[in-house]
Amino acid sequence: MLSETALKKIKEFLPEEQIFPDCPLAERTTFRVGGSCSCLIEIDTEEQLCSLIRLLNLIGEPYFVLGNGSNTLVRDSGYSGTVIHIDKAMNEIKVDGCEIFAEAGAMLSKVARVAGEHGLTGLEFAAGIPGSVGGGVVMNAGAYDGEMKNVVTKVRVVNRDGEIMELSGSSMEFGYRTSVLKNRPFIVTGVSFRLQEGDRAAIRSKMEDFNARRREKQPLEYPSAGSTFKRPEGHFAGQMIMEAGLRGFQIGGARVSDKHCGFIINTGNASASDVLDVMGEVQERVYSCFGVKLEPEVVILGD
Ligand SMILES: Cc1cc2nc3c(=O)[nH]c(=O)nc-3n(C[C@H](O)[C@H](O)[C@H](O)COP(=O)(O)OP(=O)(O)OC[C@H]3O[C@@H](n4cnc5c(N)ncnc54)[C@H](O)[C@@H]3O)c2cc1C
Repeated sequence: MLSETALKKIKEFLPEEQIFPDCPLAERTTFRVGGSCSCLIEIDTEEQLCSLIRLLNLIGEPYFVLGNGSNTLVRDSGYSGTVIHIDKAMNEIKVDGCEIFAEAGAMLSKVARVAGEHGLTGLEFAAGIPGSVGGGVVMNAGAYDGEMKNVVTKVRVVNRDGEIMELSGSSMEFGYRTSVLKNRPFIVTGVSFRLQEGDRAAIRSKMEDFNARRREKQPLEYPSAGSTFKRPEGHFAGQMIMEAGLRGFQIGGARVSDKHCGFIINTGNASASDVLDVMGEVQERVYSCFGVKLEPEVVILGD
């Protein structure tokens, strides 16, 4: 927890309006559950981030970086550290020929749309992913025929010493819903994408088709974090959950979606422990039916 002295130091380089002590996190994640963090800090610029990281590391304050919160489940007990929020205030997108540079807080859907408007193909898969560029590159977000791995050429990060570094796409160790950044204390501030020239109408129609498929198959009308579990090799999590008889299985306000069993949804008044209990039951029943261990795709934050 930040001391008064640390807060005073932070206010020397960050306006007070960007600092939220004892901040509820439910409204900053798409699951809409969970407790508060000791302090949430919204970041506007790379310079602010560098200064903040240097200070937090100097005083040994734990921190977590939050993008759009669409893959994060916050425990009810909250997080007794600082949440660094990188979203809309850092969302510049620049197009240069077939290259796009997007700041980490830009929404993937917006970058995909801008690419399409410039007749650039390769990011259509991202049109319906409700995450930020930063979260997307950390998770190697992907859908249908694409993933970040195929289009990312450079990643700009701030390291533990508060220094800016540039990593090449090939050094990112992208894997299924993972990258080297999942285990390294680097904070993404921007990403460069390399795309191909394409036909604007075809790009738009592909994105519309992907989004229509999402609306048809996914329970987008409820808060969730998308697919709760990773796809186990050779299986589909949703199908195994359905075959284990768990369609509509509910504890408190958390429920296995009737529309897509791979999604656990918040029916309105779920707590994080309802969600975690449903996850636990799903893992147990799928293991006893199929001998397969489901691994969470959602990042769980909390004490
Ligand atoms: C309805 C729905 C549908 C979805 N569909 C898909 C899909 O088709 N494919 C898919 O891959 N995902 C999907 N997701 C999951 C989610 O949108 C993606 O994983 C997305 O990339 C997460 O981005 P975010 O900004 O919301 O990340 P967050 O949830 O904010 O964070 C996720 C992880 O990234 C880290 N992180 C975030 N920003 C940064 C940063 N700037 N620097 C360093 N670390 C950072 C966080 O610390 C955390 O570990 C879906 C989610 C929902 C709710």
